[in-house]
Amino acid sequence: MARAWLALGANMGDAKKNIEQGISLLSKNEQIKIIKQSKIIISKAWGNINQADFHNSVIEVETELAPFPLLKICQKIENNMGRIRKEKWGARIIDIDIIAYENLEINTKELTIPHPFAHERDFVIDLLKEIAPQTALWIKEKAKMSSSL
Ligand code: ADP
Ligand code: MG
Repeated sequence: MARAWLALGANMGDAKKNIEQGISLLSKNEQIKIIKQSKIIISKAWGNINQADFHNSVIEVETELAPFPLLKICQKIENNMGRIRKEKWGARIIDIDIIAYENLEINTKELTIPHPFAHERDFVIDLLKEIAPQTALWIKEKAKMSSSL
C-alpha cells in the first residue's frame, strides 16, 4: 500500500459538485481508499486567466496502484465525467492531478511527480498543508533546491 496525494480542480458546470463526484468515483475504485480530504476552496484561474474561477480540493489516498496505473484511473474518471481536452490550462469539468506519490520522483512527460507546478500554485500547497503538512514541506523544499541549482 502506498500513500498518494491528488489535486482536483473544476471550473465548468456545478464545479463543487464535480469535485465531489470525482472524489466519489475515485473512492469506488477497489484499489483506492480515500484517507483525507481538504476543504473545497475557490481560486482564480491559473496559467490561462481568462476563464471562470476554479473549485479545488486535495485528497490523500491509500492505493495498491503504482503511479502510472493511478494516473490512468484519474484520466479515465476525467473522461467518464465528460472532460474534453482543448487548450492547455483551459476550462474543465474536472482535472485530477497526482501531486505526490510516497516520496517518489518521476520525470517523464506523461507523469512528473512531485507535480511540477504544485509549489507555484499556492492553493495546492495550502490545501496539502491542511491534510499532509510533511508532504507540503517536502515539495516546497524540493522546489527550492532545484531552483537554486
Ligand atoms: P493540466 O496540466 O492542466 O493538468 P491535463 O490534465 O490535460 O492538463 O494534463 C496534461 C498531461 O499532463 C497529461 O497527459 C498527463 O500525462 C501529464 N502529467 C504529467 N505529470 C502529471 C501529474 N503529476 N498528474 C497528472 N498529469 C500529469
Ligand atoms: Mg491534469
